[in-house]
Amino acid sequence: MSEEKKIPYKIYLEENEMPTSWYNVRADMKNKPAPLLNPGTLQPLTFEEMRGIFCDELCKQELDDTTAYFEIPDEIKKFYKMYRPSPLVRAYCLEEKLQTPAKIYYKFEGNNTSGSHKLNSAIAQAYYAKAQGLKGVTTETGAGQWGTALSMACAYLGLDCQVYMVKCSYEQKPFRREVMRTYGANVTPSPSNTTQVGRKILEEFPGTTGSLGCAISEAVEAATSQEGYRYVLGSVLNQVLLHQSVIGLEAKAAMDKYGIKPDMIIGCAGGGSNLGGLISPFMGEKLRGEADYEFIAVEPASCPSFTRGKFAYDFCDTGKVCPLAKMYTLGSGFIPAPNHAGGLRYHGMSSTLSQLYHDGYMKAVSVEQTSVFKAAEEFARVEGILPAPESSHAIKVAMDEALKCKETGEEKTILFGLTGTGYFDMVAYERFNNGEMQDYIPSDEDLAKGFAGIPKFPGNEV
Ligand SMILES: *Cc1c(COP(=O)(O)O)cnc(C)c1O
Repeated sequence: MSEEKKIPYKIYLEENEMPTSWYNVRADMKNKPAPLLNPGTLQPLTFEEMRGIFCDELCKQELDDTTAYFEIPDEIKKFYKMYRPSPLVRAYCLEEKLQTPAKIYYKFEGNNTSGSHKLNSAIAQAYYAKAQGLKGVTTETGAGQWGTALSMACAYLGLDCQVYMVKCSYEQKPFRREVMRTYGANVTPSPSNTTQVGRKILEEFPGTTGSLGCAISEAVEAATSQEGYRYVLGSVLNQVLLHQSVIGLEAKAAMDKYGIKPDMIIGCAGGGSNLGGLISPFMGEKLRGEADYEFIAVEPASCPSFTRGKFAYDFCDTGKVCPLAKMYTLGSGFIPAPNHAGGLRYHGMSSTLSQLYHDGYMKAVSVEQTSVFKAAEEFARVEGILPAPESSHAIKVAMDEALKCKETGEEKTILFGLTGTGYFDMVAYERFNNGEMQDYIPSDEDLAKGFAGIPKFPGNEV
């Protein structure tokens, strides 16, 4: 126990202990994630095809599944120093509250103005666009975390930033929108009449409040129709997992400093970027046979891509303009029930994580949103941080696992990713506090409708 006392509430790294390279977990995977396909030819997307959409260096990162380490450019390291290292917190107060023998740690990524881990990849993507001499980038945002992070990164580098924000969020989350505009981004409610695809959707569905899939289609069109612009995406892609590996590398370095080895690593999974980033260096050890860890992905029961989805090639967007990715998917037409408030609403999952899950290297569980908000409140009251609903999925399962340890008396070490803060999600908290929040679990019939939209071609039977 006295040994124990030496571990501080927060473990920080010195500047000279911070990671200097990102780690690419694909390099250590025997079964590589399946490549993106050109939806027209069904052939793997080539560098030449990709470079019209993403900037060159990011295409290289996307396609490279053999290089283990990518050096972090100095300019990005400098930016990281403004808000990194992020703290690794020993949740002493939560442990006490739960009366568990488990040791709980969380890596907190909400300590920057954008409020989430997304800034780790936003600065990298903006940097490579700038280095290529581009004028700007386009993207979509749903809840607004990604758009905010990208706006901050672009402001820092003097790059134009055009954000297509799902119309209902644009109207319901004016504060997010204004943060983006404060950082100089041009924010357009989607669908809009500034793109062909937007005009077409507006004609077909007048009064629609938009969707993420539709905003992606508009952002891609905006990038490909303007000279000097590229499209950027905040999750799902291999390149995004690569940048997010900074989370896991820092966490591992901090734990190594005190000789701590986690038994279990837990993260919420939307498109898979924070979870992929957090587990990457640990997964690398597992893949190389050097150590063993239990990895758990947590997703909402109302959007259960891992636990109930199909492992198949599918469209990444509703407008079907993007390449096909092989992933666990609910179908690109799947939209979670309107009462779903917990985020993590993307229909698919990172190809890298999908392959690892398929090969049995990680587990997944789904949780219902009222239990997620209940865990969020319990956590906030003892640990002080008001967590994002997304992050609270990981809190919920970490607490469940700690309570299991209480039953068995096991002193497991649990590490989870606390991806962000929830200040812009108070309408969801309000619904929970008023007892108005409900759970909705889609029926097999509901899911079948989404699966029907998965493209059918030889080798892609679902
Ligand atoms: C976007 C987001 C997520 C989910 O995205 P992943 O790519 O799955 O990590 C989780 N937490 C927060 C706070 C987010 O903003």
